[in-house]
Amino acid sequence: MGETVTTQAVIILLGPPGAGKGTQARMLEERFGLVQLSTGDLLRAAVAAGTPAGLAAKAVMEAGGLVSDEIVLEILEDRMSRPDIRAGVILDGFPRTAGQAQALDRLLSGRGLGVSAAISLEVDDEAMIDRVAGRYACADCGEGYHDTHKRPARAGACDKCGGTAFRRRADDNAETARERLRAYHAETAPLIAHYDKLGVLRTVDAMGSIAAIATALGTIVQRAAA
Ligand code: AMP
Repeated sequence: MGETVTTQAVIILLGPPGAGKGTQARMLEERFGLVQLSTGDLLRAAVAAGTPAGLAAKAVMEAGGLVSDEIVLEILEDRMSRPDIRAGVILDGFPRTAGQAQALDRLLSGRGLGVSAAISLEVDDEAMIDRVAGRYACADCGEGYHDTHKRPARAGACDKCGGTAFRRRADDNAETARERLRAYHAETAPLIAHYDKLGVLRTVDAMGSIAAIATALGTIVQRAAA
């Protein structure tokens, strides 16, 4: 983490499943000292812990639908109230509906803040189905892999940490990915216009290499949050 941002930055990553939001959010987190805030990760943790929110969300997530705004906002506000987010946040997978975007605007203005940049990762739909349906990760360190595009160099062992256990998300299959993509176009893509109106929209071609996309995002974050 070499660089820092001087204001409390609020960066939103918009894009369909498989666009690389999680990967890029983790890279920005390391580079700028921001905190990645993924509502998908928070919901999966709630499901694993068996909390009431998790129990209510489980079936919806497995079907590729959107969890209710009420549940999502509750876990997000809870996370935003923790002190470690002082430098700022990268919102990964939130907001996903008009109601969530409005709630976020209210939450931020109550703290004297606003969205620094909403970055839309532009990708090809069919390529996203393939990416999502084939992906899995090391159970120990979280390093990401893909059935055809990125296999471990030594079969069955993680390149990064040597771990031999891997996990695949329950919703990372072609059928559920199609439903998630449908939900994205119906509910989330319209938010692009919302952030354009606020003057904070940036778009990035996200079909290129992870490194090239990271460079483009880094420049945007530096300008938006300096
Ligand atoms: P993700 O990890 O962002 O792909 O999210 C996985 C799943 O969690 C989604 O398919 C939804 O079912 C649920 N989810 C995550 N974030 C949200 C959100 N902001 N609003 C509604 N549902 C969400």
